[in-house]
Amino acid sequence: MIKSKQLKKPQLVLIVDDQEINRDVLGMILEDYYEIIYASNGREALDLIQQHRNRLSVVLLDLIMPVMDGFQVLEHVRNDEFLNSIPIIVLTAERSAELKALQMGAADFITKPFDMHEVILARVGRIIELSEGRQLISAAEHDQLTMLYSRNFFFEYANRIHRYHPNWHMDAVVVNIEQFHSVNALNGREFGDKVLRIIGDEIRAFLSETEGITSRFEADRFDIYCLHQDNYQALLDRLQKRVSALSKTANIRLRMGVAPWREDVEPELLFDRACAACSMIRGNYKTHLMVYDEEMRLREILNQRLLNDLRRAVDEKELTVYYQPKYDIQCDPPKLSSAEALIRWQHPELGMVSPGTFIPLFEGNGQISAVDNYVWNEAARQIAEWRDKIGVTLPVSVNLSRVDVFDPSLEERLDALVRQYGLDHKLLKLEVTESAYTDNAEQMIELINRLRNCGFEIEMDDFGSGYSSLNMLSCMPIDVLKMDMTFVRNIGHSEKDFRLVEVVLDIAKYLKVPVVAEGVETRQQLEMLKEAGCELVQGFYFSRPLPPGEFERLIIREKEIERENEA
Ligand code: C2E
Ligand code: MG
Ligand code: MG
Repeated sequence: MIKSKQLKKPQLVLIVDDQEINRDVLGMILEDYYEIIYASNGREALDLIQQHRNRLSVVLLDLIMPVMDGFQVLEHVRNDEFLNSIPIIVLTAERSAELKALQMGAADFITKPFDMHEVILARVGRIIELSEGRQLISAAEHDQLTMLYSRNFFFEYANRIHRYHPNWHMDAVVVNIEQFHSVNALNGREFGDKVLRIIGDEIRAFLSETEGITSRFEADRFDIYCLHQDNYQALLDRLQKRVSALSKTANIRLRMGVAPWREDVEPELLFDRACAACSMIRGNYKTHLMVYDEEMRLREILNQRLLNDLRRAVDEKELTVYYQPKYDIQCDPPKLSSAEALIRWQHPELGMVSPGTFIPLFEGNGQISAVDNYVWNEAARQIAEWRDKIGVTLPVSVNLSRVDVFDPSLEERLDALVRQYGLDHKLLKLEVTESAYTDNAEQMIELINRLRNCGFEIEMDDFGSGYSSLNMLSCMPIDVLKMDMTFVRNIGHSEKDFRLVEVVLDIAKYLKVPVVAEGVETRQQLEMLKEAGCELVQGFYFSRPLPPGEFERLIIREKEIERENEA
């Protein structure tokens, strides 16, 4: 059977205003595009809304009217389950009324006098589009767990506010949960869900007191677009308090990034900035709130530049590998045992750029693999060169980034590399940071097992800066534990810090692995570590990271000393 083609009726618009001139002007603007009906007070309007509720696309509603005003109409419509999906645009001359109307459920505003005809047309069209779309996708526009807006809908809305209300100073706020995966892992998903719902509820409560919208952006990230606040700490405290009240033991910490409104910055960019501010405090125990400022903007410009320059840096050999020795301190005198390969970037205009600056950047966009592969290859080549040239076979550790873990060919590539230079697998040691382990525990354990089966040794880097529990540690396959340098820094003048070092050494003993203490700068630190039973040390006390030529001289010198001592 052939269906008869349905003729699409024009969309129906109700204009409500007690002043005839206003009704006329709006009618004139819209009549070429829509079918229009009119009411001159709230009472008439409600009758027409009831009558046409299945066809009405939008209501343009004056607020101040005799008989029944616009607020009463809004209230009535909002509380009626058959009517509350009809969008209402408020016609108003004063801003305070606008805000109240928005809180009461108005979809948008048109300001009197009606002079910008194109703007009015565009707004009416947009609201209809949005509300029709909304009925179709109403499940998709909300996050089912928190019932907050989905990301797409949120940005659609935020862009609209930005475009149509240029005088509203809307800030972007991003809220995140520190180590949410650990919260889930330790307390169960159900508890994790509860945390997310509570945060959603509290943000909603906050937004009932001020203007704004919110969304759960991804797992544990909440975005809030709200009128400028003078005190975001108060908002963070309020959210933190609700979350902390959920459990005495879970110890959940929130962090917040804020990007203040700027006229020329669109919401998406503003949220990128808030997110960047929020990421800067990841893992920081003291700071939980960061506001995006000029310094961060300049840093972003620098970051962009570095990202653009990487390819050239590789081609022009601006990247070089430095080597820092590790010494066995239980020997007397301490004996050179291995080295760590550390990348350096000699930028032609910016000078020496620290890996602390560019590594996280390239981790963020995936380019780190290119950098790491370069370093691994260079390190393997160097081990072979020293073996052949000066007859010393020194193990070298290279750093793996958390992104490398996702490379399915990692094991194959490393294996091919050591074979290419005829090296024993144990000579190219692999450092993996503790946080990379905890970010992806299961995947990581599996990968590390494969690499160890291949013959590689794994060192856990920056141990103590992350969140691994003893329980987790005992399942982690590692060969060496590298204690984070923050532990060593104050052992000379803090009894408590020295106790912590002893705790790390005990953990290593329990795991039956040796410890490398990083960041050893003084003789006193060295002596204390030796006394406490730490096996290996790396730090400025012995040497800074050195370019290959200088490091080669260091090896030769050390070997001479060893020979002299043996003789
Ligand atoms: P890391 O692997 O923990 O490396 C040790 C860092 O401590 C190095 O910083 C080293 O120069 C520094 N250091 C060593 N001894 C001392 C000391 O006595 N005092 C102080 N204050 N610092 C000391 P660097 O070279 O700036 O590297 C920073 C981080 O960048 C490294 O931390 C590592 O996580 C990463 N990195 C470096 N090269 C690479 C690489 O080729 N690939 C990857 N993925 N990451 C790398
Ligand atoms: Mg390292
Ligand atoms: Mg380290």
